[in-house]
Amino acid sequence: MDLRERCLRCCQPVLVCFKKTRSAEDTRQAVRRKDIEVIVNPHARQTGPGVSLRPLAVEKTDVYIALYDYTARTEEDLSFSAGDKLEVLDKSAGDWWYAKALTGLRVARRGYIPANYVAPVESIDAEPWYFAETKRLDAEKLLLAEGNQHGAFLIRNCESQKGELSLSVLDSRTVKHYKLRRTDSGHYYVSKTKPFETIKELVAHYSQQEAGLCVRLGEPCKKIEAPQTHGLSYNTVDQWEINRTSIRLLRKLGAGQFGEVYEGLWNETTAVAVKTLKPGSMDPKDFLREAQIMKKLRHPKLIQLYAVCTVGEPIYIITELMSNGSLLEYLQKDNGVKLRIADQIETAAQVAAGMAFLELQNYIHRDLAARNVLVGENNICKVADFGLARVFMMENENVYEAKEGTKFPVKWTAPEAINDNKFTIKSDIWSFGILLYEIMTFGQMPYPTMSNYQVVQRVPTGYRMPCPPHCPKVLYEIMSDCWKQNEQERPTFETLQWKLEDFFDMDVSSYDDANRY
Ligand code: ATP
Repeated sequence: MDLRERCLRCCQPVLVCFKKTRSAEDTRQAVRRKDIEVIVNPHARQTGPGVSLRPLAVEKTDVYIALYDYTARTEEDLSFSAGDKLEVLDKSAGDWWYAKALTGLRVARRGYIPANYVAPVESIDAEPWYFAETKRLDAEKLLLAEGNQHGAFLIRNCESQKGELSLSVLDSRTVKHYKLRRTDSGHYYVSKTKPFETIKELVAHYSQQEAGLCVRLGEPCKKIEAPQTHGLSYNTVDQWEINRTSIRLLRKLGAGQFGEVYEGLWNETTAVAVKTLKPGSMDPKDFLREAQIMKKLRHPKLIQLYAVCTVGEPIYIITELMSNGSLLEYLQKDNGVKLRIADQIETAAQVAAGMAFLELQNYIHRDLAARNVLVGENNICKVADFGLARVFMMENENVYEAKEGTKFPVKWTAPEAINDNKFTIKSDIWSFGILLYEIMTFGQMPYPTMSNYQVVQRVPTGYRMPCPPHCPKVLYEIMSDCWKQNEQERPTFETLQWKLEDFFDMDVSSYDDANRY
């Protein structure tokens, strides 16, 4: 795409008005040399003289298409709607780019945009049906969600084979999956007899006719939620100590042992969760040190830490807001009762995915439990409060003492962590086993008939909880693996993640087509 001025009214990349510095003779010579091209401006009366000049030796520009709507959160941001075209002028701020709107309601306006809300124009990422990093399970959930009709579809990266694509289609109330295979020359096909040079052509073809698919492709799957932006705005990514006056607390969401949690509004524009810490519960310096690491841990299954207020008391921790609160409450309430076994396993798989990321980063959670997992729309779960326990523990050792009556999460904690203060990713695995128990019992207290003291006494001698009622045996086996006495024999989160995700693949019944899987 060329770098050239665009008409302010029609936004077509056609015109450069006479520059004042250019004399008529200069212009004539430039036209003769074919350095510039004279174009009639359809909106000439608004923009200047009747002809305009377009430089031919032009730089490449970055034109992007918006994948989601975005409403400006600060005066320096630019609002846009899905489908708008934007020219990116400066990418140096990292996750937030400085851009100019080329189409839409705010055409020609400039401001910061979240980089993960846009994709290069004409790229596959810009296609409304391309859901790149969507797992098979998530694809099914998205397609089965309200608003999608028979034939709704999406194309995603194949989980099992890197570089390959899969097509997921809604056929009445079931979702069918096809691998998009490639010929030796790189053409894509569902049926070998009909290869296509591009995925776009393949989609166009199957939108016209079924041609062997279970259903003709209809509308692209609806995108339910825009992704989280990285940070609240371009300037909180680095300067994330924010002024507490920019936060308005709206309503209390709950309380933990270290403080209260509120729904809040940042800059009068953006919904956030605000954790307020009881004065004295931690040293701001320790917290800030830990928080520096925490804010770098970004993953779709981890709650994002947006900003902090550590100047003055109480300390505020600003995170993304999750509409359905903690997983524990969610499991215990009506919602939990409505959960099917597939939802329960999916919940566990999501937690394992977030934890597998922490495992990869050599980061230990230390307080993994259903109360520290939060639930958003459509059963989306994210792990919260990672690393916070360490900060509390450093400053407030007594709080985590393994005594009856204290709030030490004894029932979630591995024996070696209780007895020798040995917290590792393997003690997190132990806690994950307990969390799995919570999920399978809809939020029942672990070791329901035992006190903390009894748990501390009996678990090191080999006592383990029995299989909960109605819990599939394979899931109980996973729990039991997490509770191996020798921590080295416990699985990794990576293994847990694929085991739980594969659960769904196992019971898919119909494979009536070579490409369907
Ligand atoms: P503790 O901190 O003692 O382990 P906890 O994790 O339940 O207990 P908090 O993290 O303070 O305590 O959270 C209290 C409650 O606030 C949660 O149970 C949940 O309902 C709500 N909550 C916390 N964070 C969020 C969030 N980001 N979005 C929505 N609700 C939240």
